[in-house]
Amino acid sequence: MILEAKKISKSFKNGQKTLSVFKDISLNINSGDFITIMGPSGAGKSTLLNILGTLDTPDTGKLFINGKDTLSCSSAEISKVRNSQLGFVFQFHHLLPEFTAIENVLIPNQISGGSGKFDKGRDLLIYMGLENRFDHFPSQLSGGERLRVAVVRALMNDPKLIIADEPTGNLDKLNADKLIKLFKKINKDFNQAFIVTTHNPNVASMGKQKYNLDNNSLNLIDSI
Ligand code: ADP
Repeated sequence: MILEAKKISKSFKNGQKTLSVFKDISLNINSGDFITIMGPSGAGKSTLLNILGTLDTPDTGKLFINGKDTLSCSSAEISKVRNSQLGFVFQFHHLLPEFTAIENVLIPNQISGGSGKFDKGRDLLIYMGLENRFDHFPSQLSGGERLRVAVVRALMNDPKLIIADEPTGNLDKLNADKLIKLFKKINKDFNQAFIVTTHNPNVASMGKQKYNLDNNSLNLIDSI
């Protein structure tokens, strides 16, 4: 098992009021899973992914990643787990505008002390159909291409789980379908698990495990 969330709950305080976002959510993620989560805006999808990705903490519950109890780890240990086990793809790709596609892919690895892994970055960009875009800056890429560069960046450390928050939220239908097909291909070729939130029923239907997050709880709708 890659990730095990046990009865996690989260609320936010706004002045005097407490807003309960979700309660007692449990979820297991195994190698090769492709989980999609649908739910209305404000249902807590981003909050849930942030918690599963160790970027935020739940009020109660447990989160194990690769068997490690992340909520009792030091922040240095959590960073290590996050960097070695997880990859993130966001709707707003967060590419650095002053660096080219290949540099954006290589920089995070260099920062964490790696030697750059140029060959791997090159091969993954080619795998994503970006063989003619290595030296393009983000502003010279289409929205779909920028997202694909961000996916390559997320894959560089061979994470066991890719966490994607509304990755297709800014894309037209054609590019959204293309990105999800790429996710499915990566899932099949490398057995990497995915958890993807979406508003888009088309994207949700691509999941092997389809969930709905609404009214404080996460419900499995369909599983193949
Ligand atoms: P979704 O991703 O499904 O649109 P979010 O997880 O972004 O939903 O937000 C869930 C709810 O929690 C929303 O009502 C939002 O306003 C609230 N919320 C999210 N983050 C915070 C925060 N840092 N402080 C207070 N309220 C928050």
